[in-house]
Amino acid sequence: MSSALNILKEVFGYPDFRGQQAEVIAHLANGGDCLVLMPTGGGKSLCYQIPALLRNGVAVIVSPLIALMQNQVAALHEIGVRAAVLNSSLSPEDIVAVEQKLLTGEYDLLYVAPERLLTPRFLNLIERITIALFAIDEAHCVSQWGHDFRPEYIQLSVLHERFPKVPRIALTATADLDTRREIIERLGLGAAKIFVSSFDRPNIHYQIIDKTNGRMQLLDFIQAQHQDDAGIVYCFSRKKVDEITSWLVSQGLRAVAYHAGMSSQERNQNQEKFLREEGIIMVATVAFGMGIDKPDIRFVAHLDLPRSIEGYYQETGRAGRDGRVANAWMAYGLGDVIQRRRMIEESGAKLKFKQVAARKLEAMLSLCETTTCRRLHMLNYFGEVVDTVPCGNCDVCINPPQVWDASVEVQKALSCVYRTGQNFGAGYLIDVLRGNRTERVKEWCHDRISTFGIGKNLSETTWRAIFRQITVLGLLAVDSESHGILHLTELSRAVLKGQQSVHLRLQVNSIRSSEKQQNSDITTLDPTEQYLWEQLRAWRAKTAKEHGVPAYVIFHDTTLQELARLSPKTEDELRRITGIGVRKLDKYSSHLMAILRGD
Ligand code: ADP
Ligand code: ZN
Repeated sequence: MSSALNILKEVFGYPDFRGQQAEVIAHLANGGDCLVLMPTGGGKSLCYQIPALLRNGVAVIVSPLIALMQNQVAALHEIGVRAAVLNSSLSPEDIVAVEQKLLTGEYDLLYVAPERLLTPRFLNLIERITIALFAIDEAHCVSQWGHDFRPEYIQLSVLHERFPKVPRIALTATADLDTRREIIERLGLGAAKIFVSSFDRPNIHYQIIDKTNGRMQLLDFIQAQHQDDAGIVYCFSRKKVDEITSWLVSQGLRAVAYHAGMSSQERNQNQEKFLREEGIIMVATVAFGMGIDKPDIRFVAHLDLPRSIEGYYQETGRAGRDGRVANAWMAYGLGDVIQRRRMIEESGAKLKFKQVAARKLEAMLSLCETTTCRRLHMLNYFGEVVDTVPCGNCDVCINPPQVWDASVEVQKALSCVYRTGQNFGAGYLIDVLRGNRTERVKEWCHDRISTFGIGKNLSETTWRAIFRQITVLGLLAVDSESHGILHLTELSRAVLKGQQSVHLRLQVNSIRSSEKQQNSDITTLDPTEQYLWEQLRAWRAKTAKEHGVPAYVIFHDTTLQELARLSPKTEDELRRITGIGVRKLDKYSSHLMAILRGD
């Protein structure tokens, strides 16, 4: 392994392997197949990039996202690795040129989209050269039940048939057992060694709050904790993406949009802006994000409920890949529960699909309503047996919700549903419970029924939380015909009769929201270091612009901070900074030294 370690140090500029990287690299470099399950930011790329340099021939990397391969290759060029992409963004002449160089052995890595890889032309081409390995990135795209299903991925089994001697590595950040089984089966990886890393992302703080006014809550969150930070805001629909983007912009924030309804040119433009400039907020549907390897995304916010824990974990996992403090924030309410359940109901999909979708949604809801550590909850969901010690870095750990005996309140709510004829949504029911004589209440004469005003003791917000939770618990069901109408269920009977008690969570919302979290270790820099850090960032921005690459391709924040803190005086000291390999030392040492000397 010493040569792998040398490459890590000399080429990539990192002192040590992370997690299971060393084992994976040794296994693959020796010609073994493997399946690697590692969380986003875990360092999957090195698992094939280093074997690509250790083995003879060219490594072929299959990746579903054309636009983003380019950044990977740009980053490799920065450190002097011979790599190229082959995709539809190239002109026919460029394609021929890449193919020529491929034949003459001028690449160590070649990134291709699956549809191109599968063409007879390409398969015939690579039959004439030595292939070091095949890497199948985002391997969960092979799963028909997953949300990123790509039909071409299924055909990737052809690689094994045509090139039985070439080792393969499949990689994914999707952790559940069903997906794992599907990958193994469909890609013919039965004999492959499986490397499962812990999916914990300790630097991400998780928070899920009761939604009252989603966009205001979002704004408060960003202003309190993420001024000038890059982040992603996920919304459910295209329309909402547009609305939230304009609204954030009108509040003076730098936000751009991304969804499938936009022209691809517009989408690319916004994506590039997000990747290249600092402090941009990307408002997007889940169409955005796969393959995004921007390391300094400081927050991921959800304004709508994701459809599964897998999706939620993958989306939030895009925050803080550089290992620094990051936030996963979500606002969620009864409307989300209703909308998601209806969508499954109305999807027109096969029964089996609906059942899978419903199960995943229920798991997601139970994460939202949990009264124990969110991190433990998610890791257990992924089948990881972890310490039972709560993490101390999620909202539940930091500010535990009270669990209270809500049996009487729930009885009031349920009988109000009953007395009003099981014909209304939560908003109306709350008016009746709280004794609000609205026009509509008067019209229906519900100010004369016994449940009118019996819930005055609780605020509207608390009632909303109660209705949401008892709907999640199945004590109320949503009418499938008309939007938002709630009716009783089998389960409600026992509660109404007083035979069963109900305990609910009482979340004291965002007490800490105004407290600016210690958002990065930047705060630990003293004023001189802080000044250096700013100088270094300005230089990096200029250099990135000249090279036409995102800033992090030049150096990560972690590298610049270490430089500012340690202020190395010699080349030798410079070489020891994380993220500075031989090539970058060559290229940039004189610039860096000049800045550090204060010239
Ligand atoms: P993912 O598993 O999400 O594909 P990446 O391969 O993009 O993760 O790696 C995440 C970040 O961590 C990258 O910026 C990468 O350069 C960095 N990284 C990976 N391995 C190491 C290591 N051994 N030491 C330091 N940084 C590393
Ligand atoms: Zn916790």
